Amino acid sequence: MLARMVTRAINFNPGPAALPLQALTLAQEELLDFEGSGMSILEHSHRGKVYGRVHEEALQLLRELLTVPSSHRILLLQGGAHQQFAMVPLNFRSDAHAGDYVITGNWARKAFAEAERIGRPAIAADVEQNGRYLRLPDQAELQLSAAAPYVHVTSNNTLFGTQYHAFPETGSVPLVADMSSDLLSRRIDVGRFGLIYAAAQKNLGPAGVTVVILSADWLSRARTDIPEIFQYGVHARENSLYNTAPTFSIYLMRNVLRWAKERGGVPALEAESRKKAELLYALIDESGGFYANDVEPQARSHMNVVFRLPTPELDARFVREAEEAGMFGLKGHRIAGGIRASLYNPVPLEHVARLAEHMRAFRRASS
Ligand SMILES: *Cc1c(COP(=O)(O)O)cnc(C)c1O
Repeated sequence: MLARMVTRAINFNPGPAALPLQALTLAQEELLDFEGSGMSILEHSHRGKVYGRVHEEALQLLRELLTVPSSHRILLLQGGAHQQFAMVPLNFRSDAHAGDYVITGNWARKAFAEAERIGRPAIAADVEQNGRYLRLPDQAELQLSAAAPYVHVTSNNTLFGTQYHAFPETGSVPLVADMSSDLLSRRIDVGRFGLIYAAAQKNLGPAGVTVVILSADWLSRARTDIPEIFQYGVHARENSLYNTAPTFSIYLMRNVLRWAKERGGVPALEAESRKKAELLYALIDESGGFYANDVEPQARSHMNVVFRLPTPELDARFVREAEEAGMFGLKGHRIAGGIRASLYNPVPLEHVARLAEHMRAFRRASS
């Protein structure tokens, strides 16, 4: 098989990110003639039986892997997390309130800004300091209103590398979480959330599809005075086939989900994520300050490990030499600077070990 002879890069891209080789080879094998149909899956009708099986399998695998209870619906939408920034307040704002937002990073702030265009949201907490977001607010710090239609959090701050390891308590107010950069990487109690959304291109698959999981009960109270394309209720009624679904993205996500199931599902992926992250954090902590991670220790992300070297020149040289050694995607986000290693599910432990080796060798050579 051609793909097995290709030299694959060590890919730490923040998103779109690495995909499992198995998911890609299956797509390659099936591309020209999907299941004997004489056409590729891209050429099938989104309303036909052949694609219908792919659609159902993707939904079923999500339900199984994420242990989504029967109280919750799963939708496959488009427009990425950005569209959800708007759809959540469009569907669930009340006349007086458009949600309490916990601002723990740039994505959370963008979600809040969209809600402001639609209604009157409030800020429950804002941890920004000098343009950086290095911690998460305590429960006691949150200013929550019982009148808010929901509380919005970002579970993993992809840019600065913080992650909620325990979600806030919101009483009877539905909790909404942007899990774009950590859904499927750890166990979560889906029943606790009113709504979860995740653009697929970090852990779930390719860009182009967005997974939304929402409480059916809450959904029944969503607004209907907005365009149909933005109504969760319409997409739920049509089983995410209201408009032409992004069939190839969903197909590729299915391949990734099959791979995830074979790996042992979310518990196995969670254990591996922890191992990968701990390998790098241990090395950072033992480096005597050569590698610095500024995040509050209990808020450290298992998905995006962010660190910096003593000078920006060393950061740049580190990235350059990593590329020469076949490792890509390590340059930090332009807002955060430094180095960022994104360790999504498809990135194997061996690749992280190679990065650790590079970090040790680089430090020796520079000190
Ligand atoms: C990547 C990311 C987004 C943006 O996703 P789009 O698909 O570009 O809309 C939003 N939130 C988080 C947490 C992300 O990691």
